[in-house]
Amino acid sequence: MNLIVTPQRESVAVSRASWQALMRTAIRDSHQLRRVLDLPPPTEGELRAAASFPVLVPRTYLAKMRPGDPADPLLRQVLSDGAELVVPKGFTGDPVGDEQARRGTRLLKKYNGRALLVTTGACAVHCRYCFRRHFPYPSSRSQDGDWEDAVQELRDDDTVKEVILSGGDPLMLVDSRLETLIERLADIDHLKRLRIHSRLPVIIPQRITPSLVSLLRSTRLTCWFVIHANHPREVDDALEMAAAKLIDEGIPVLNQSVLLWGVNDDAETLAELCERLIDARIAPYYLHQLDRVAGAGHFEVPVERGLELMAVLRDRLPGYAVPQYVREIRGAAHKVPLA
Ligand SMILES: *Cc1c(COP(=O)(O)O)cnc(C)c1O
Ligand code: SF4
Repeated sequence: MNLIVTPQRESVAVSRASWQALMRTAIRDSHQLRRVLDLPPPTEGELRAAASFPVLVPRTYLAKMRPGDPADPLLRQVLSDGAELVVPKGFTGDPVGDEQARRGTRLLKKYNGRALLVTTGACAVHCRYCFRRHFPYPSSRSQDGDWEDAVQELRDDDTVKEVILSGGDPLMLVDSRLETLIERLADIDHLKRLRIHSRLPVIIPQRITPSLVSLLRSTRLTCWFVIHANHPREVDDALEMAAAKLIDEGIPVLNQSVLLWGVNDDAETLAELCERLIDARIAPYYLHQLDRVAGAGHFEVPVERGLELMAVLRDRLPGYAVPQYVREIRGAAHKVPLA
């Protein structure tokens, strides 16, 4: 029997592995990340930045990058950078006022009718521009007792109709824990909708398993799904297939992006991203102006530039393919459209 593993066979093995197995083989080290992409060793600053917010990249996402290109827009999102150590004026640990919106340890209530549940601090990938990179996540040690606080808050506030499962990434929870949580939420009569905010379909599409889909299908709550892709190369066949599993079962899928310098700050890239999304039946929802979180200063694109880009998108694309360009302002009653 021929035991030589060809690159093709290896990729088949990767695509069939479980999402948990793919997390276990994720890259967690700048040296290794650079080595597998044929790039020179990391700089001192890069290593220091990674010491405060570790590098984390599953191989399924790595496979979408171009080896040998230090400016690859996917790599830029995950490779630590000495520039993170420089904090421009106005960039802080809590840029969007999460602390003042906190109800208990896990619930954030900013907007009418919706509450956001921080399910876990874990993510499948560490995005360097993440606005929650300094968020004081509750310890993940305790098990289902965790939810009691938040569930009680939700039960007591009958203005809330929609719960957003966020994090971290809610799909880092195993199905059995998600199921317990969703059952408890479905028991609260005034809740109508469940929204899942997750980057996993982009990072590890294998996470969208038949059992997850049936779990989301079987709850009484109407389920909406919001993914997070920033670049057209993130919207590949694997993502399209993962999204189709949800959409074909009646779960609408939307996308939110962050406008990022050196990643998607040009009209060509954004237009292609939006087109690929609608070709995959995913609706572009928001294009976020970067939240001014300490460590992400080098990703900021001026609002004037963002407005120019939006004008091009409106000019080129069907109306439903144009996302809303928004910024989050501390204390505002909704995400604020930039126009
Ligand atoms: C962004 C956000 C929401 C959702 O806002 P939508 O405009 O409905 O997408 C809800 N709660 C919090 C705390 C948020 O930050
Ligand atoms: S997946 Fe979301 S929460 Fe996690 S690091 Fe990326 S942007 Fe932050």
